[in-house]
Amino acid sequence: MKNQNANSADEHSPRAWGRRQFLAAGATMLAAPLLSGVTARAQSRETGAPALAPSPSPTPLGSGNGPYLTEGMAGYSETGPLTLLKFQRRALGPKDVAIKIHYCGVCHSDIHTIHGDWGKIPYPQIVGHEIAGEVVAIGSSVSKFDAGSRVGVGTMVDSCRHCSECLRGAENYCENGNTQTYASKDRDGTITQGGYSKFIVVDEDFVLRIPDSIDLAEAGPLLCAGITCYSPLRHWSVAPRKRVAVLGLGGLGHLAVQLAAAMGAEVTVITTSTDKTKDAQRFGAKDVLINQLGVDFSKHQRAFNFILDTIPYEHDLNRFIPLLKRDATLCRVGVGKLTTPNQYGQMTTVLSRTSLAGSNTGGIRETQDMLDFCALQKIKPQITKIPMEGINDAWSKVIAKQARYRFVMDMDTTG
Ligand SMILES: [Zn+2]
Ligand SMILES: [Zn+2]
Repeated sequence: MKNQNANSADEHSPRAWGRRQFLAAGATMLAAPLLSGVTARAQSRETGAPALAPSPSPTPLGSGNGPYLTEGMAGYSETGPLTLLKFQRRALGPKDVAIKIHYCGVCHSDIHTIHGDWGKIPYPQIVGHEIAGEVVAIGSSVSKFDAGSRVGVGTMVDSCRHCSECLRGAENYCENGNTQTYASKDRDGTITQGGYSKFIVVDEDFVLRIPDSIDLAEAGPLLCAGITCYSPLRHWSVAPRKRVAVLGLGGLGHLAVQLAAAMGAEVTVITTSTDKTKDAQRFGAKDVLINQLGVDFSKHQRAFNFILDTIPYEHDLNRFIPLLKRDATLCRVGVGKLTTPNQYGQMTTVLSRTSLAGSNTGGIRETQDMLDFCALQKIKPQITKIPMEGINDAWSKVIAKQARYRFVMDMDTTG
């Protein structure tokens, strides 16, 4: 029944298929090239011949209904630099919008994905899921956007649309698995390619409207880092008179502090970086604890109603769980390598009935709420713009904890 509903829009359109049917057909689809255009490019790298335009003939950027030839910075292995890849985006479906990407934020997940920290992925792969740009063409049934609309795309570009999670607007927790913006199998069998590129085609239901007061360059980081913090802060009812600790003051953390402060909470930042105290206060923190070996946190035991842990690598949770009040929650949103999971001593949660939780981005409706909240509260990321070719240097700085606080790729500048 659910599948029938999902298919009623256009039963002949592969993009309207239910997830199960899609999976059933997957074996056939996998026989097709994973990414149109990439095969030709990969071959040309070996032969030295220029990259061939795949068929059907792609149209120049932004013109017609596609498919659209474009380019982006791709990873070709777990190690090694990202380099330019020419490829094509699909032709517009009835509900698709074609977006000229102006900016894309650089998220730690991008690095984890290319490095294979979360499992093997097919290469070449273009990552990036903090996309901000402008609509340049729309499909015949698009109703939410027009050419010229300022829009964004976050971490997902599709979901099954009929499971209970999708129906309540939690597409990020789709029971059948949503389609991630990159390194994910799309409904046509290709592997999705992300926002480190100049152009993308996305179903309008997974496109966000960027409020006019938000600078387009500053919008991208809200779509992953921002919603990843906003959703758990809302879920765990952060509000006035609540004491909140934010672990880590990076791309996520610096937005988490602003969001929690705007929700009225008293915010403490816990960071290993001794030089971030002033920044933390500027973002709205009341207190800053420097987390270094040997520093004693015992006087902060049972101090916090909620801890948002944004650290994207393995660390000692036993240091932080005792800082929770009875029945309070520490929620992890940073995820490190799967091969080095965090350990924790059960006694730390038993002693004051605390909870250890996780949270993964937010649904589309909630992401729009977050954008509107940020516009109203004047919350924005602190960004450093880089040209596309600067991405490898930016990744090195992110890994060395030198980002202050989000690199944003500017697709319109070179050099
Ligand atoms: Zn991200
Ligand atoms: Zn679903």
